[in-house]
Amino acid sequence: MKQNLETLCIHGGWHPTKGQPQQLPIYQSTTFKYDTSEQMARLFDLEDEGYFYTRLANPTNDAVAAKINALEGGVGCVLTSSGQAASFYAVFNICQAGDHFVTSNNIYGGTFNLFGVTMKKLGIECTFVDPDWDDERIHAAFRPNTKCFFGETISNPGGCVFDIERFARIAHEHGVPLIVDNTFATPINCRPFEWGADIVTHSTTKYMDGHATQVGGAIIDSGNFDWETGTHRPSRPDLQPLPCREGSGHHLTSEETAPAQVHSAPLPTREGQGGGSFSCLTQPDESYHGLTYTKAFGRKAYITKIVSQLMRDLGSIPSPQNCFLLNLGLETLHLRMQRHCENAQRVAEWLEQNPKVGWINYCGLPSNKYYALAQKYLPGGSCGVIAFGLKGTREEAIRFMDRLQFVSIATHVADARTCVLHPASHTHRQLSDEQLRQAGIAPDLVRLSVGIENVQDIIADLEQAMA
Ligand SMILES: *Cc1c(COP(=O)(O)O)cnc(C)c1O
Repeated sequence: MKQNLETLCIHGGWHPTKGQPQQLPIYQSTTFKYDTSEQMARLFDLEDEGYFYTRLANPTNDAVAAKINALEGGVGCVLTSSGQAASFYAVFNICQAGDHFVTSNNIYGGTFNLFGVTMKKLGIECTFVDPDWDDERIHAAFRPNTKCFFGETISNPGGCVFDIERFARIAHEHGVPLIVDNTFATPINCRPFEWGADIVTHSTTKYMDGHATQVGGAIIDSGNFDWETGTHRPSRPDLQPLPCREGSGHHLTSEETAPAQVHSAPLPTREGQGGGSFSCLTQPDESYHGLTYTKAFGRKAYITKIVSQLMRDLGSIPSPQNCFLLNLGLETLHLRMQRHCENAQRVAEWLEQNPKVGWINYCGLPSNKYYALAQKYLPGGSCGVIAFGLKGTREEAIRFMDRLQFVSIATHVADARTCVLHPASHTHRQLSDEQLRQAGIAPDLVRLSVGIENVQDIIADLEQAMA
């Protein structure tokens, strides 16, 4: 039976039967026992499915991955030990030394550094593009060795809404997939696969967990990118079309399998500019039984390679205990997102009319540059994170934060508790003012992550601190 997102938040992934625990058990075990040597050998020959070592698979982790996969509408999901590991693996899975990719410059500071500095040391180069540029300027960033395009649905902390359908079309014209970090929107508010994205990543540390208990990440594969031809195939003929999004933006999706219905049609690729050259997926992997991922796993080629190659060689799995905590968060994700968005909208409206506030960036405000895009991609609400600048000096902004009472200064966002951060003096300290501007961050930007407390209490705390 097809289930709505709210139901999947509760029931997705773990399906207990007779006498099994109602709540997902924590399989806190590195290894799994077999009775005969032959049983074990069959697992290693890929002739049988079964658990043998938690770096590759664990029942608790798998159940949570299946829930997130169902929420996004993918063909498979892998959990990682952090959002950073998810971003790295998502790109590294299809890029090697000598390759190139294109990324929005309006992204999380950690990702900006990973892509621009650390991956460069591995011989993988990227070009940062401003998502506000026109199509021609963005096309110009692609090269023959470009392997993917990356962006964030709602950027952290810039608050830029990524025009997923437009950037999917551009990526597909160059024969490469679009990877979208959907951390801030969560699948409750946006499902990028419906707009043509091919791969979705998450920092599950944020809203998915929502209680600041674990650091984690996720990668979900739509199964819609054909690695052999470098084209995007929107839907599977063997699957029934899903009902279109309406009203709240909530829609039906069937668990485990169905890729989301996609609005855009596939486009011809541009001659000679990237495209179709994903030999890491279409040629035999000598380190993995000489298997060719696309031949052996079809639509699950990309996601299977992450487990069987990257997890095997690099690790970065979450602990089953952390997956259990993440799952508790997911059970209320739909309720929390709604309250985060309602509260943030009220706080944003209050800040906008406050004479002490110099500027504000929240895509739910009609005056916002990204309002139209937010209405298109996030009709049911965006997220709880607001960026604003106070009139006055940088020191006054710091004093404002120090005077807050229950609103806390924390290097964290997207949590039940309201918190603030000054990226220029905290998370992005290592960036110069020029790099800050390149990453779309004003030096006076205050990032306010609106929680799920009483909204009048939140506003009262902000007001007394500003006074
Ligand atoms: C926090 C964050 C990350 C990194 O995630 P960690 O879990 O902290 O490693 C990546 N992308 C976005 C949008 C984030 O907010």
